[in-house]
Amino acid sequence: MLSQVVELIENKHNFAITTHARPDGDGIGSSLGLCWLLRSLGKEAEVIVSDGIPATYHTLPGADEIIHVAEMIGKYDAVFVIECSDIERPGIKNLDQQFTVNIDHHTTCEHFGTINWIDPTASAVGEMIYNLCKAIGGRISREIAECLYMALVTDTGSFHFPNTTDRTLKVASELVKAGVKPAKISEAVYNSYPWSRIELMSKVLATVKRDASGRVAWMRQTLEMRESSGMLDGDNNGFVNIPLAAKEIVASIYMREVRPQFYRVSLRSKGDINVARIAEKFGGGGHKNAAGLRIEGDWNECERKIVAAVIESVNDDIHTTNGYTLNDYELTLV
Ligand code: 5GP
Ligand code: MN
Repeated sequence: MLSQVVELIENKHNFAITTHARPDGDGIGSSLGLCWLLRSLGKEAEVIVSDGIPATYHTLPGADEIIHVAEMIGKYDAVFVIECSDIERPGIKNLDQQFTVNIDHHTTCEHFGTINWIDPTASAVGEMIYNLCKAIGGRISREIAECLYMALVTDTGSFHFPNTTDRTLKVASELVKAGVKPAKISEAVYNSYPWSRIELMSKVLATVKRDASGRVAWMRQTLEMRESSGMLDGDNNGFVNIPLAAKEIVASIYMREVRPQFYRVSLRSKGDINVARIAEKFGGGGHKNAAGLRIEGDWNECERKIVAAVIESVNDDIHTTNGYTLNDYELTLV
């Protein structure tokens, strides 16, 4: 919990911070924000990751100092593990031999750390790092503010998602007071992609399908699409949300072929539809409205299983939350 994290920081000196492979804005923003906070307290700190950093985050202060490692080499008093459901997610060998501090806001997170600070009411880990800064009596520098604002913007979909609370907006306001230019961060997140994103988007959107009720949408990204569009890491960020722009769509599924017979799947939903529960059924996890999983096997078969599970769950959730009786859901796969 928070008090243990504060005590640890006060009593120790030499820290590393890591986040999950394929890092996102919350993972990178929170890690860098924490790094700046620790340094401002006179501590030694560095961010270590196993994966490349998407170009969107290159402009964050400290991004150019991030160290890429495949296994733990340095000796640290503690390693902060940001936004990871389990100790394997950073993809760093021997991380489990370290004193680890697990900081996360997912409900499905394992308590793998030596210290665990999990706050599912936080919109982003960035919000938790802000709270940590306040609890430890730190000052929100412009560097910390920019990194944490990136975390908030990306994890709340620019304050659109239901995880956005009055606290989130209050923290965002404090970060802007500390020197953040919101338009600069939005420009980096939303309007700085290479053209390959547009090429890929057109191919992926060409595969979109809906079930008979028109409430569930799904689409695919094949290895061939990646190659022919010249896709770069992060080019497909947010694609899964596109079908949700249609009023009647309440759940969206986006399947990416990572290698033959192996797929990463993103699930998104609106309102009461809980996709974390569906992801968990397949060994994945996440939040109520944003979850993910991995699955192996034949494209059509995997797609059919996931789509069926989502349709079934949408039926249940709508039925139990709004009292509708729904018998108009039919699984229609082409
Ligand atoms: P995304 O669709 O953006 O990759 O992930 C959405 C959410 O689901 C994230 O909060 C992420 O932590 C979680 N998630 C995605 N893939 C997996 C997975 O394979 N396992 C678990 N436990 N969570 C995942
Ligand atoms: Mn997050």
